[in-house]
Amino acid sequence: MASVRGHALITGGAGFIGSHLSEALLAQDWRVTIIDNLSTGRFENIQHLVSDPHFTPVIDTITHEVVLDRLAGECDVIFHLAAAVGVELIVRDPVRVIETNVLGTHAVLQAAARYRKKVLLASTSEVYGKSNKVPFGEDDDRVLGPTTKARWSYSDSKAVDEFLGLAYHRQMDLPVVVFRLFNTIGPRQTGQYGMVVPRFVKQALNGGPITVYGDGSQSRCFCNVQDTVRALLLLAENPEAVGRVFNVGTVEEVTVLELAQRVWEGVERGAPAIALPDPAKRVVFIPYDQAYEPGFEDMQRRVPDISRIKQLTGWEPRIPLQQTLAQLIEVALT
Ligand code: UDP
Repeated sequence: MASVRGHALITGGAGFIGSHLSEALLAQDWRVTIIDNLSTGRFENIQHLVSDPHFTPVIDTITHEVVLDRLAGECDVIFHLAAAVGVELIVRDPVRVIETNVLGTHAVLQAAARYRKKVLLASTSEVYGKSNKVPFGEDDDRVLGPTTKARWSYSDSKAVDEFLGLAYHRQMDLPVVVFRLFNTIGPRQTGQYGMVVPRFVKQALNGGPITVYGDGSQSRCFCNVQDTVRALLLLAENPEAVGRVFNVGTVEEVTVLELAQRVWEGVERGAPAIALPDPAKRVVFIPYDQAYEPGFEDMQRRVPDISRIKQLTGWEPRIPLQQTLAQLIEVALT
């Protein structure tokens, strides 16, 4: 077998982002082992990698200590992506979200500490909560709602992960890098757990209508997963990233209503065989209470300040939203 640059362990490697990260690492001559319990990840996401002799899938849970201990001992670096994500899942099953995120990360850090392995720890822009600052800088304050609203449990569960990771770094000198993912999109992302872009693409390809929650004036920045993965690789190889927190996302902002329009335009261009409904029937507005839970609070804007990662690694997103939407429509049609 040809020589490899190193051996990466990816928790949650059969998930949307984990599967793209696996591909990117293999392309850069890494050996890759993933561990995934297929709760939200899917084997189809990694099926095409299984024949690669440098790729090993382990279908198990990260809280299975004996397994995780062996995998941590064998690798050089751990990308910890396994987590319960998606706003819909959080509202529906908060016990699972909190336990998976907090206990899972604890297990990964303990195993990493035993063998002194570097950990790239995935966090989320949800940690900023409902702060209305634009853009969000890594050292900004967090603004959260009450514990009676399930939505905030996700933010706090990932914040505990960050605290724990940074504490392992400070107290035990474990090399830990925290990255906060803002909205990330690309092929293989499912709309099953609420993610807006795959849902809109699917709804439009099925003839509509697209379900816009609230009045659609809320905005997000959607980063192509290939750009995201490139950021993670740069952070992993930079020793100066250790012990720090980085936003990873794009700054191209779009309202949810504009997004719906862009998806329809993409379908018109990329799938001319699909008859577009009347303009009045392309979008349906659904109140938040109905879409999520009574009293649900959405974030109005969420824009990352990416100057920190840019300064350290030179990273910037390259793929505009329009290109990703065209790619998603093309993939969905094949
Ligand atoms: N959203 C929507 N229609 C849907 C799903 C989501 O309008 O069918 C909205 C959601 O309320 C939020 C935005 O799209 O304002 C992004 O939602 P997502 O769950 O993808 O990510 P979030 O940024 O909320 O974590």
